[in-house]
Amino acid sequence: MCEVNLRVLKIKDGTVIDHVNGGYALDVIKILGITGKEKRVITIAINVSSKQFGIKDIVKIEGRALNSDEVNKIALVAPHASINIIRNYAVAEKLAVKLPQTITGIVKCVNPVCITNSDEPISSNFSVESVEPLILKCHYCGCVLEKSDLLAQM
Ligand SMILES: [Zn+2]
Repeated sequence: MCEVNLRVLKIKDGTVIDHVNGGYALDVIKILGITGKEKRVITIAINVSSKQFGIKDIVKIEGRALNSDEVNKIALVAPHASINIIRNYAVAEKLAVKLPQTITGIVKCVNPVCITNSDEPISSNFSVESVEPLILKCHYCGCVLEKSDLLAQM
């Protein structure tokens, strides 16, 4: 039993987002749209020790299994995260977080005159130029977004 398991209680049903970069748990919460008003128990551990990463964050969401869209969103702010879906205190499913080469629809372009922000029915489309630090480039206007731009939209 590692130190972290002692520190953060096991949950019966829900999602454990582990190996979030140290200090980034609140970004994960934000990108998932969690406000704390959902009447769910959410446990956040920030800057706990990790053999693999030195320090890491952990987010536990009780009573909610994340879907694949949400897992993809987490990849934007925590590319090394591992996601375990918990059922009856056991890991029922492990989901791999992987940032795709292109991101479609999830993020809005920061350029107000970009065609994706016009009335045209065109979804946003970004290529991932860099994962850490996160840099996205708009396919249509070439504008560059950083993580702070992304979090400001959530
Ligand atoms: Zn654009």
